[in-house]
Amino acid sequence: MSSAIQTADLDWQCVDGIDMPVSKQFGQAYFSSAHALLEAQHVFLNGNDLTTRLTKLADFEYFCVGETAFGTGLNALTLWQMWQQLRPNNHSHLHLISVEKHPLTKADFIRAANVWPELQPLAQQLIQQYPLPIAGCHRLDFPAERFSIDLWLGDVNEVLPVIVKTKAVDAWFLNSFLSSQYPDIWKKNVLSQIVRLSNNGTTFASCSVTDSLIEGLREHDISVSCPSAFNNQYPMLKAIWNRAKSENHDLITTTTQPQRQFNAADSFQQREIAIIGAGIAGLSCAYAFASRGHQVTIYDQSAPLAGASGNPLALLNPRLGRIEHSAQHLVTLAWQYAMPHYQKFKAFRPIHVSQLALKADDDLLELATQYPQGIFATKKENISDLETAYPSLKLLRAGTISPQLLRDQILEHALIQFQHAEVSELRKLSDSNQKSKIQVIDIKQQCLGEFDHVMVCAAMNSQKFSQQLPQLKPNRGQVSWLNNANYPLKPDQAYSYGGYCMQLDEQHLILGASFYPDREDEEALAEDHLHNYALIHSVFPDYAQSLAPIETWQGRASVRTQSPDYFPLLGKIQPDAEIYTFTALGSKGFLFAPLCSEVLVAQVLAEACPLSSYWVNKLNPQRFIKKVKPKKPYYQKPS
Ligand SMILES: Cc1cc2nc3c(=O)[nH]c(=O)nc-3n(C[C@H](O)[C@H](O)[C@H](O)COP(=O)(O)OP(=O)(O)OC[C@H]3O[C@@H](n4cnc5c(N)ncnc54)[C@H](O)[C@@H]3O)c2cc1C
Repeated sequence: MSSAIQTADLDWQCVDGIDMPVSKQFGQAYFSSAHALLEAQHVFLNGNDLTTRLTKLADFEYFCVGETAFGTGLNALTLWQMWQQLRPNNHSHLHLISVEKHPLTKADFIRAANVWPELQPLAQQLIQQYPLPIAGCHRLDFPAERFSIDLWLGDVNEVLPVIVKTKAVDAWFLNSFLSSQYPDIWKKNVLSQIVRLSNNGTTFASCSVTDSLIEGLREHDISVSCPSAFNNQYPMLKAIWNRAKSENHDLITTTTQPQRQFNAADSFQQREIAIIGAGIAGLSCAYAFASRGHQVTIYDQSAPLAGASGNPLALLNPRLGRIEHSAQHLVTLAWQYAMPHYQKFKAFRPIHVSQLALKADDDLLELATQYPQGIFATKKENISDLETAYPSLKLLRAGTISPQLLRDQILEHALIQFQHAEVSELRKLSDSNQKSKIQVIDIKQQCLGEFDHVMVCAAMNSQKFSQQLPQLKPNRGQVSWLNNANYPLKPDQAYSYGGYCMQLDEQHLILGASFYPDREDEEALAEDHLHNYALIHSVFPDYAQSLAPIETWQGRASVRTQSPDYFPLLGKIQPDAEIYTFTALGSKGFLFAPLCSEVLVAQVLAEACPLSSYWVNKLNPQRFIKKVKPKKPYYQKPS
């Protein structure tokens, strides 16, 4: 997935009174006639027997549909409409994974959706979250509907191999539109990936009845039939994978992450989750589990936000990767998920960030020409209210988070309970059913509770819970704030220059942040204020001189936790126990936390994973363990 996304180039034609989008790239209409909606229902929904299967979903069951081309979103909306009509009244969830190489522009998507008035209420919700044309996975979440979509933008040949099989796809929509894009689409590569992501009982439906698809499926021992499609006009394809039970290795991994054996009977129930540490990592995980209906207890040795997450304001300030690398750039991926996620909270405030290019060879400024409109300011809009000698790029999609407001809103959740306790140990209990609970033990050796899963989000202290974690590094940092009521910055404008500054409120400027490696002391110090002053003075000397004297400044110091390779640690820490970690968030914790929490949830609850196998492996907390290869002796004595 290494290229920039090209949106679909469309021609609009009026056919039978319908405003029909036709792809110029492939010379093919996206839907064939006024009956396209009924056809989609017949081929994809009935072809996969979804009426019966979705109605029967058990409490907490998670059903996953896979689609090989998102197109105008007609199948997605049709599926969602059916789900709305017949979903059981419990905690079951429907998820769609869809891939698209040439997504419609938002304007074209809106126009195409107008063709189907009956789908408008759902289309409007989808339009609100319609992603920017940037490669990678875009998770669209509709919690009130118990419905979500992972829309992977990229070439299906490159996307499918990197999807992690944390949950097998239950039903596939094999769209025929692809056939014109790739004449040999159903040959080896794509089909073997579709099969890799499937499982015993997975069904397949398509209106493409080609020999290559039929033969390809049969090669994988998938039973295929070709009944009549809508109006009995032409055949469609229906298939089911009925593997012998002995062959049923449920989770085929493309990742080095240890995978829990998925036991359906265990999984469809409310889980008891313990989280150690109530910083942004722990709070984000708590929210992700609780919003799925699971019971969460968060323990903190001090108080929520006692550690690095407790500054008065945090800035979401990603330095985006080059557009052709966006699907492999963790900061860009995390930003894409974090922005819509935080907008759900009153703690979020949208802001523009002027990112200064401090070095002559900085390729930062080039990004403006690469990304779609609306992400970076145009030259005209890039006007700064602070004088500087440095060129800058203004990111329009950024924001600030008030950690305290976020904490309050998350802890208000009925399924999240906070307890003050210093956790010292996690003990695995075994029972004969292999459903081993984990005991959470405090420093007085008291058992605080027994849980199905434990998430260790204890920053530097996380390493106490597993000898397998690498040595973590502390980096002291301090933010400073001061009264600037005489010279306030625009409230929707931040600056980033190695440090950062923005209005904390109407009266105060906040400056970040000093950085002292290998220090864990947390007292606010004058020397750190000086450091923050020096940073702002180096780029905005005139403004810096207008600031109130340093003696009047206030500050807060804390410790960033860093891993040996600077990336977070995310995933299971012991192969044989339901203990996971999310730690070492470095200097970008607020940006990483929402997406990484979704990945953790995917691993724990066996849901779809919104991050590629490359990143899941790269963040695996066990990545530093050296694999010892058995050595062959140089010389073997003749026996
Ligand atoms: C000065 C400074 C400015 C920053 N600015 C930004 C910014 O603008 N934007 C941004 O995205 N990031 C920023 N960061 C980085 C960000 O703050 C961190 O990445 C993030 O807060 C880490 O979150 P965490 O939950 O992993 O750790 P923490 O917030 O440190 O939380 C860990 C929690 O675990 C608890 N705990 C530890 N051990 C135990 C135990 N045994 N039992 C129970 N509880 C335990 C602690 O009490 C603590 O509350 C900044 C960091 C610093 C230091």
